[in-house]
Amino acid sequence: SPRRDTDATEARVAGVAVDTRHWIGGERVASADTFTTTSPIDGSPLAEIARGGAAEAAQAVAAARSAFPAWAATSREERARILHAIADGIEKRIEELAVVETADNGALLRSHRRGVMPRVAHNFRFFADWLLTLDHEDFETRGHTNHVSWDPAGVCALITPWNAPLMLATWKVAPALAAGNTVVLKPAEWSPLTASLLADIAAEAGLPAGVLNVVQGYGEEVGAALVSDPGVARISFTGSVPTARHIAAAAAANLVPVSLELGGKSPLLVFADADLDLAVDLAIEQYDNAGQVCLAATRLLVEESIAEEFTARFLTRARKLKQGDPRDEATDIGPNIHRDHVERINGFVLNAIDDGATVLLGGSPNYHLGGLYYQPTLLAVVAPDAAIVTEEVFGPVLTLQTFATEDEAVELANGTRFGLAATLATGDTERATRVSERLVAGTVWVNCFFVRDLQAPFGGSRQSGIGREGGTWSFDFYCDVKNTVTAP
Ligand code: NAD
Repeated sequence: SPRRDTDATEARVAGVAVDTRHWIGGERVASADTFTTTSPIDGSPLAEIARGGAAEAAQAVAAARSAFPAWAATSREERARILHAIADGIEKRIEELAVVETADNGALLRSHRRGVMPRVAHNFRFFADWLLTLDHEDFETRGHTNHVSWDPAGVCALITPWNAPLMLATWKVAPALAAGNTVVLKPAEWSPLTASLLADIAAEAGLPAGVLNVVQGYGEEVGAALVSDPGVARISFTGSVPTARHIAAAAAANLVPVSLELGGKSPLLVFADADLDLAVDLAIEQYDNAGQVCLAATRLLVEESIAEEFTARFLTRARKLKQGDPRDEATDIGPNIHRDHVERINGFVLNAIDDGATVLLGGSPNYHLGGLYYQPTLLAVVAPDAAIVTEEVFGPVLTLQTFATEDEAVELANGTRFGLAATLATGDTERATRVSERLVAGTVWVNCFFVRDLQAPFGGSRQSGIGREGGTWSFDFYCDVKNTVTAP
């Protein structure tokens, strides 16, 4: 990538001023180099972002380390109050956050406005409230009291992807801060802007300097330096499997607990006894965010006896989806994140066709809209080991396979190296229980999708991740849990 010398410190994005430098120890810090980000909407240059490296990672970890003792000693009530103040600040700036996020990552403005950004605020409120109810258990053994406490761990390195930037960042930042830790957040280089706005909002809400730090730059540069820093006590990563291997190796070198939320290749099982309208709705929903959702059930597994009718109804619905500018309220499917990513998606589809897949819908970029918009695609696949049904595409590409029996359905569903989620549509509650028990997945949805209580554990099995976050599981990860035994 081109290195450019520039003194750029701010970008105006959709009318909003965004500081493009790092946020370290309560101050804006520039780097000698910057990199240019582009908008997925039209490929135009968006911002010159500070390109951090080892020096900035070390500086941010040092700032977080020096802020740690005071923040860890701050009462739980005061920490919760500040987290709620951050949520207030987010709610006041929902429109700004929504327009900047859409310009930066191309996801629908209407979902940022009405779904994502309210949830971002809720992430802070939820973990603030959960902190105050967190159980401090006591056990008795031969008159001795065993007192369990949840001590802050130290500096948390948080590394996040571009598909839902602020949502996924705050899913980690909020519990890490609530637990009394300090944070260095490294957002994805394809969508760095809202993390910078979060730093402003947190400072305005009274979060002390150095408690939240944001470093910008490439994963292989500032990201790799951050996760290798011996001053880091926890690493939480959301992203792809190949990157997770690097991060897990860095965590192993320093023996640091690591949480990995990775990719998926989730199935949607449609049984003949399902409500077919619901099943079609669930399948169409998998095109959300142009297919760039880790949980997306991209493998449609449909019982043979209804496959023809299901497919006909699905195609009727899918052909009505409106693809276009994500700022337009009427748009259903926007662009994909980056030209490189569109090429990757297209490569998967072309290989699948070579492998014998039949294109039932789409099958190429939407050339009318320019190269960044991949058409919603459905491929009928026969070979159960084709790459298109075993590898994560991360685009609006669904595959259709059929099954004859429940056993075959489960076998196909579990037939990848992933285990993030699974969805099933059935009208038979006993079948629902039976099949759910046999599915390898961190989350199973029965006749629904995406709904989830933040108290519940979230994470993946197999190569979809290590560990669970959510509710107490988040505190379990971000705390050093201690047992203090006192004699009678
Ligand atoms: P990615 O792995 O390429 O990058 C994720 C982050 O890691 C980025 O911030 C990147 O800069 C950083 N990074 C890259 N190399 C690094 C290194 N050597 N050291 C430290 N950091 C490094 O992933 P992506 O393409 O940004 O995101 C898409 C992936 O994320 C998909 O696989 C998707 O399924 C997954 N994802 C998972 C979840 C989940 O909760 N399980 C949620 C969303 C996305």
